[in-house]
Amino acid sequence: MRIVWLLILVLAGVMTGALITRFESDAPVIDTRTQVAYVGKEHAHQFRVSDEGMGIERVRIWLVSGDVEIELHDETYDGNLWSGAALQLPRRIEVTIEPKEMGLGPGEATLYAEAYDFSWSGNSTLVEVPLVIDAKAPRISLLTGLTYVRRGGAEAVVYEIDEPVDSHGVLVGEFLFAGFPHPTRPERFTALYALPPDTAATDSPRIVAEDRAGNRTVVPVSISIIEKGFPEDVIVLSDGFMELKIAEILGGERTDLLAAYLEINRDMRAENAATIRQICERSSGERLWSESFLQMPNSRVGARFGERRSYQYKGRTVDTQVHMGYDLASTSHAAVPAANDGVVVFADDLGIYGQAVIIDHGLSLFSLYGHLSEIGVEHGKPVSRGDTIGRTGTTGLAGGDHLHFAMLVGGVFVDPLEWFDGKWIKEHVEAKLTIEEPPGS
Ligand SMILES: [Zn+2]
Repeated sequence: MRIVWLLILVLAGVMTGALITRFESDAPVIDTRTQVAYVGKEHAHQFRVSDEGMGIERVRIWLVSGDVEIELHDETYDGNLWSGAALQLPRRIEVTIEPKEMGLGPGEATLYAEAYDFSWSGNSTLVEVPLVIDAKAPRISLLTGLTYVRRGGAEAVVYEIDEPVDSHGVLVGEFLFAGFPHPTRPERFTALYALPPDTAATDSPRIVAEDRAGNRTVVPVSISIIEKGFPEDVIVLSDGFMELKIAEILGGERTDLLAAYLEINRDMRAENAATIRQICERSSGERLWSESFLQMPNSRVGARFGERRSYQYKGRTVDTQVHMGYDLASTSHAAVPAANDGVVVFADDLGIYGQAVIIDHGLSLFSLYGHLSEIGVEHGKPVSRGDTIGRTGTTGLAGGDHLHFAMLVGGVFVDPLEWFDGKWIKEHVEAKLTIEEPPGS
């Protein structure tokens, strides 16, 4: 008799446990991007549905726009009320919204997802995702007409975009040059861009704009490219020069002089270019300068921009590089003036450039000063045109005392000659920045 009671008790315990499990009140969890989703021509939205208790029984996803309701997904999973879901896995579901195919106009809509579990309590979870349907691509109007651009040179362009966008600018090959908003007209932008010396024909500039819904517009900029040859030069490497620069730049003693020199001339040059691009990623949205750029006074031009250099060692060509600035020689340790008004964004050691200074002139225009023996300015400080920012020297990969002067647009080297030329600036930059109305309006 005692045994029977004991059995009943155990059975009741097991039953209660089983019932508690089956009446669990853990509601399903639906994970998704909870912020507003912007829907362009096509939008894929992901949900991850999980349940800690008996598992997911059914997931339904639908969309409501005005009085239209569109079923997007309805799936019932294997399982039963006694043992729950056959697979205790989070379910990943993706629904695709194509407004045009679904007959949805622009405006707001709501995406709903509801999940039910196998619990005897019948738990369910409902989430809403607000949608903004916008299948219209941004419209770009160009305010500047056909221009002549020198290969290796720079140019300015002004454009308007008819709606707020996520990203925009001038695309030339792999480079995207930022557009800066007009001070009083938020729909209008100015961008400076470069046409690098090695630009391919297919890389001609285009203005791109992409809105939050992923609608993208690309408009070609009509330019006529002025081709000009670039000078060539041969640099003969001597053991003495290599030894000196290796000790100075890399430090330590090297047995293979050529390998160590190429480490500097190739790898460090590329690394420095990447660092410079990074420094030039942020620029003042305001133009900080007004006059032409100043060339160091009483200086003789050594190497020019775009010079193709082949490096020879023991009668053999061991490397080729392109010289991306102007070499200006004066007296030894000559005062180096800031080429224009701006803000110092770099004042430190910079590999092959030695002790260097970079000045931001706004609208992504920068000047760089290399091989300095002395730096006289600090990072973050404003400078005026003509202020002494340091003294010439031989630091970095320099033979004799000189200034390596470079100009950059959006981190891409351009020919400084244009920026020394007040007439060029007037025609190619000033005239565009002061455009009043779009052509024909
Ligand atoms: Zn140089």
